[in-house]
Amino acid sequence: MSKTYNIAVLKGDGIGPEVTDAAVKVLQATQDAAGIKLNFLYGEAGYHCIAKYGTNMPKETIAMLKKTDACLKGPMTTPEEPGAPVSAAVQIRKTFNLYANVRPCRTYPNVEALKHDIDLVVVRENTEGMYSGVEYEVSPGVGVAMRIITREASLRVAEYAFKLAEKRRKHLTYVHKGNILRLTDGIFKDAVKATAQRHPNVTVDDIHIDAAAMHLIKKPETFDVIVTTNLFGDVLSDEAAQVTGSLGLAAGANIGGTYGMFEPVHGSAPKYTGMNRVNPTATILAAQMMLDYLGEKEAAGKIEEAVLAVLREGKVRTADLGGSSTTSEMTDAIVTKIR
Ligand code: NAD
Repeated sequence: MSKTYNIAVLKGDGIGPEVTDAAVKVLQATQDAAGIKLNFLYGEAGYHCIAKYGTNMPKETIAMLKKTDACLKGPMTTPEEPGAPVSAAVQIRKTFNLYANVRPCRTYPNVEALKHDIDLVVVRENTEGMYSGVEYEVSPGVGVAMRIITREASLRVAEYAFKLAEKRRKHLTYVHKGNILRLTDGIFKDAVKATAQRHPNVTVDDIHIDAAAMHLIKKPETFDVIVTTNLFGDVLSDEAAQVTGSLGLAAGANIGGTYGMFEPVHGSAPKYTGMNRVNPTATILAAQMMLDYLGEKEAAGKIEEAVLAVLREGKVRTADLGGSSTTSEMTDAIVTKIR
């Protein structure tokens, strides 16, 4: 009997529906090839919900997510006015305590990258730091944002990163700004050092965020697993995605103790909405990470192989990869390689 999984699908805003539909199409082909059953449950979330529900994350959607094994989430447009609803992704991360944001970046065949042998993963603390959402205007024109760093959350994300490094090249770099943010990054640094004691087979080094941003351009191939706090991780992973070719290929997992949410690293790119132009691969690779999280390694491998086969052939390429293929052509090319 094939195993059945309930998968929540949130299509999101802008290009979200196009890239999410593409990933579902690939998942449908994969379930047949891999002998698993995926039950897709669609929910509403994102900017387009605000007018209808007064929120970007309706409580019905949260209730639906709780009935599923994992969530595939399209990018969502985030309102920027003070007092507007907090980012839907941030709400899901906090509700389900998805403490590790895992963003792999590697060089792909036929994709222009700074170096040919980059293979790194950014593990970003996902629940606190600069994204605590606590901001005050202390007097007119003077604002304060709370950068909350706890030992508990730092230990948790460090443990995840060390375990990941053990499965890879056993090298972990922790990124901080401890020379300026002495107290908060002091807590983070101490937590990583304490975790390192339990993983003596992992080589550990550390680097300041500004130097890390530079080294990611200069010698990206020297990184294996990078662990860092929330904002630094967000910025570094976008940078790493571009260093390895395109934001259109970068996927991310949000992992907690009992739930996982999977999404492209990119946003809703509103100017490309409905143009059938953007690269669906980031969301397709997010679906691959989801199957991997669910323990379906063989099924996940089929998606990775199909993506690599299409890139290797180099015939079907979206604009971000220097080609002129559409979103649907790229999706169909990947679907035909699932076997
Ligand atoms: P963006 O990632 O949406 O777009 C930046 C540029 O990257 C685009 O103009 C495009 O050139 C390129 N790009 C993005 N996705 C691509 C794809 N699949 N294929 C090819 N090229 C692609 O970033 P932004 O413009 O800063 O943000 C737009 C909205 O998305 C904002 O409201 C932001 O808050 C939101 N956002 C949401 C998430 C999320 O839901 N997790 C993440 C980042 C940004």
